[in-house]
Amino acid sequence: MESIQRLTHRFFSVPFLPKKCFLKPISRTRPTFIPRKPEFRPSFIVVPSRNQSSGSAARAGWFLGLGEKKNMLPDIVKAGDPVLHEPAQDVRPEEIMSDRIQKIVDDMIKVMRKAPGVGLAAPQIGIPLRIIVLEDTQEYIGYAPKEETKEQDRRPFDLLVVINPKLKKKGHRSALFFEGCLSVDGFRAVVERHLEVEVTGLDRYGQQFKVDASGWQARIFQHECDHLEGTVYVDRMVPRTFRTVENLDLPLATGCPKLGVQ
Ligand SMILES: [Zn+2]
Repeated sequence: MESIQRLTHRFFSVPFLPKKCFLKPISRTRPTFIPRKPEFRPSFIVVPSRNQSSGSAARAGWFLGLGEKKNMLPDIVKAGDPVLHEPAQDVRPEEIMSDRIQKIVDDMIKVMRKAPGVGLAAPQIGIPLRIIVLEDTQEYIGYAPKEETKEQDRRPFDLLVVINPKLKKKGHRSALFFEGCLSVDGFRAVVERHLEVEVTGLDRYGQQFKVDASGWQARIFQHECDHLEGTVYVDRMVPRTFRTVENLDLPLATGCPKLGVQ
């Protein structure tokens, strides 16, 4: 049960890195943004990109020992980097179909799946744009005890890409559960979230998107949309519940609120 919880709770969000920041640089030379060398990523899957460089450029890169950098995934920005507390900017709708934005979306999906996580926001890979991706699968959910996922109202859903999302709470109910973040490795904390939300925005083709989410999916949406405001879950957590993954199953400290739907 502990190992399962560990897995399930880290599915939250986040990470990746661009070889370069497309907007204004989120930071100067931050080491976390430096793509790892391919040999360190044996499981890396090369996905054809529309941005393939010419054969001669690729060969030149190889000659210089640079490798196929274009295919490298960005790293996840980790807590401690102030960029995680910067609000992100809207994507201009006319830019959504550009190679640049499509590549960012593709990278985000790959990074999220590789982590693995159930959600990722663009700032987590160093891109200050309002883009989130999320997905939960039967396989991921299967790692958690049934009674837990039932209580969390956690159900699988297909990949969602939302650009410029707007989130509205629905109803007045909330839920308290532990959650984690791909940018905050090794820790979890209890966060109170709305039980139901409505999310509108644009999909990766620029089409209007709207979904009514509840339960765990609503939590993921709130967690990812928070990243776009420069808010990390630790900014919202019940402070005395902050703990390492290894201690996840220990009782809550005296005075902490009870977990579950309120
Ligand atoms: Zn996160």
